[in-house]
Amino acid sequence: MKHIRSIEELARWKSEGREKKLGFVPTMGALHKGHLSLVQLSQEKCDRTLVSIYVNPTQFNNKEDFAKYPSTLEADLSALEAMGCDAVFLPDAEMLYPEGLKSRRFDFEGLDRHMEGAGRPGHFEGMATVVTRFFALIEPDVAVFGEKDYQQLSIIRHVVAKENWPVEILPGPIFREADGLAMSSRNMRLLPHERKESAQIYAVLSRAISTLDLEKTTRKTFEKACIKALDAVPSIRVEYVSCCDAATLQPLDEFNTSRPARVFAAVQCGKVRLIDNLPLF
Ligand code: AMP
Repeated sequence: MKHIRSIEELARWKSEGREKKLGFVPTMGALHKGHLSLVQLSQEKCDRTLVSIYVNPTQFNNKEDFAKYPSTLEADLSALEAMGCDAVFLPDAEMLYPEGLKSRRFDFEGLDRHMEGAGRPGHFEGMATVVTRFFALIEPDVAVFGEKDYQQLSIIRHVVAKENWPVEILPGPIFREADGLAMSSRNMRLLPHERKESAQIYAVLSRAISTLDLEKTTRKTFEKACIKALDAVPSIRVEYVSCCDAATLQPLDEFNTSRPARVFAAVQCGKVRLIDNLPLF
């Protein structure tokens, strides 16, 4: 596996395989099986796969979250090597932000209005700035994004369509622990009792979906019941539970099975912020 640490090395590696279909998986490292499932998807679709590892400062609105973001570089490199990943790109801020750590301006046309966009000002502009910079440098044919960050995936699809980036966006399903917790690099910061209780996020949401009675349940009662059940877990404080249209990401007026919808949740579990989402119908 090639370790790429400069733009020149990246250009050289790209030129060695111009005719090959290139898959790109952007990550912030501290890799887990969720990330590796995206690498596998890329390998199935493409001739070569490049993974980037970069903790992007402009998408953090919380300094402590950025400072405490886990790093396990040696283990990440071994896991990628063992999977037969072709290259890993390890850029620094100067390569990605030659004019300083600033985000571009975007119009996400309302996709960022709710949920993560409301709670984390600047987050999506920082994310989209670094991802479009990666697209310009790497020129991938395919880029893989996880449904774990569903709003991020929707926003990237929107930017790609609006700005005509010649890249296919491939979504990867959410990879979960055996007890249902969505895998996340942040999970390793949970204390043992918090880790145990965090399984309630998936348990509560999936139970609410499986018992959803479309004749009787309104969106508000559904969300309230989820919030009540989650807030009853000692280490969990709910930030939001929101049922939204899967395409527009606007909150549903009422349940209407004619359009795909999902339930989205963000909670604070101890000192760690966790998100998840599931299809409603
Ligand atoms: P991150 O390193 O958290 O920026 O995530 C890098 C990519 O991995 C993003 O596209 C995430 O959506 C995706 N990802 C993170 N966790 C999971 C998971 N549990 N299942 C599938 N994809 C994931």
